[in-house]
Amino acid sequence: MKSGKKKDATPRPSVAIVGGGLAGLAAAEALSRSGMLVTLFESRRYLGGRAGSFRDENTGQLFDHCQHVAMGCCTNFLDFCEQTGVAKLFRCDRKLRFIDAKGKVYPFAPIESLPAPLHLAPAFWRQSYLTMSERIGIGTALRRMAKLTDQQAEHLLVGPWLREQKQSSGVISRFWEIILVSALGDSIEKTSLAAARKVMIDGFLAHHHSADVHVPSAPLGEIYEEGIARCLFDRGVRIEMESPVDEVFRKSVGGGFSVSVKDEETLQFDNVVLAIPGRRVKAVLAPRLFEKVPDLARVDQFNHAPITGVHLWYPEPITDLPHAVLLDRTSQWIFAHGETKSPHDGQTPAYYYQVVISASHNLPSGDHAAIIATVTKELAELWPAAATPLFARVITQRAAVFSAAPGLEDIRPPQATPITGLFLAGDWTKTGWPATMEGAIRSGRLAAEALCRRYGRNEQLVTPELSHSWLCRKLFY
Ligand SMILES: Cc1cc2nc3c(=O)[nH]c(=O)nc-3n(C[C@H](O)[C@H](O)[C@H](O)COP(=O)(O)OP(=O)(O)OC[C@H]3O[C@@H](n4cnc5c(N)ncnc54)[C@H](O)[C@@H]3O)c2cc1C
Repeated sequence: MKSGKKKDATPRPSVAIVGGGLAGLAAAEALSRSGMLVTLFESRRYLGGRAGSFRDENTGQLFDHCQHVAMGCCTNFLDFCEQTGVAKLFRCDRKLRFIDAKGKVYPFAPIESLPAPLHLAPAFWRQSYLTMSERIGIGTALRRMAKLTDQQAEHLLVGPWLREQKQSSGVISRFWEIILVSALGDSIEKTSLAAARKVMIDGFLAHHHSADVHVPSAPLGEIYEEGIARCLFDRGVRIEMESPVDEVFRKSVGGGFSVSVKDEETLQFDNVVLAIPGRRVKAVLAPRLFEKVPDLARVDQFNHAPITGVHLWYPEPITDLPHAVLLDRTSQWIFAHGETKSPHDGQTPAYYYQVVISASHNLPSGDHAAIIATVTKELAELWPAAATPLFARVITQRAAVFSAAPGLEDIRPPQATPITGLFLAGDWTKTGWPATMEGAIRSGRLAAEALCRRYGRNEQLVTPELSHSWLCRKLFY
């Protein structure tokens, strides 16, 4: 448990934030900036939720459950890192690297002197694993995609639409899927064109910095403990760890909320922000409150997709690339994390890598040896030393992200509810973003804005998106 103090004579509205994932942390940060009296309850021992770390028993080192990466278009995530003083713990890389099956590396970096989206055109033309006519076809499809209305794009599936646009299976797998599956976390046969458009336009083409890659240079758990929790503590936020909230209820209509924690104590608050996964809300919110928020009944309709992280430790570096996108393979991304100790004995120095496989529906569930064999074989075809890791570990999160299915935007609930003082946050709420750290932070800030409005305060806590360049608007809209 951590608690901070802040001197203040005037009574301040109290807020219970349930859930210490990024949405809850963002709500806490924004509300503490707005002078609210904030208590955050997290059921686990660690902050960060799905974007969290675990401590290895042998080495005592923190490792992330799965690699997390933000892009330049994630304006709220990047601002949150600035506000909490942890931006220095991320490194920004403007260059992506694609590697084909034969091991040829294709750098993909913007040209500073060209306006967006032309800043990526030279890099795109150098991706010679696509033929000239395939690259022209991609440009045409991107323009058609941009010109659809929001309603049309929201109700179309990406895969069938791409085939209608005469995109070949090779182009689909080597261009569209490689970007969209890792950005949206699910297959293009299940995700909407609106979500795909957001990735392609806002995430790459709109602005010079949209596609910058921000990679944590420390385990996320360390970033929360050392940076974010400390910042919140200094702002007077009380953080209660290992404190699962069993029930949120109200004794009288219009009164405050009772929050029952660990079946042990019940605390009173003027407001509650539920920043837990959508499918958990029904178990926590008292039935009489739940039925007053009709949007919540539809959360059962959300589908989820798995992401698998394969963690590998080697006696020597296998490549000097910091990260790379792998074409034509089961393994999608690889990230290098430098020297650590191998968890097999907690002592042997080892070079640590993570391979990420999004939408890992088809991996042999539970057969970690088979997954490790597939991934190390693929890596060894590029870098022979990758055949024999000192140690390997597979972590699959089954409900890693919600599937951005057609029509989902129509049923994502807003952060303000019909119940005065009750707010929702979480990547699954209405943010306009897929399930990402940006979506989670944005939801926490939107909940905080709605809560401030309850007290007549119109605070701007959400950071605007990167503006689209004039040329992008002209070409695509
Ligand atoms: C494997 C994987 C890889 C990913 N990669 C990326 C990436 O590269 N880039 C990116 O932007 N996004 C990525 N994401 C998505 C990103 O992690 C999520 O969108 C984001 O972390 C969701 O945050 P959240 O706060 O909404 O939810 P959560 O992280 O699920 O947080 C909810 C919190 O509530 C707590 N809780 C639940 N019930 C209770 C209760 N009763 N009482 C108290 N606490 C409770 C939970 O313990 C948890 O800490 C990835 C996700 C996964 C799983």
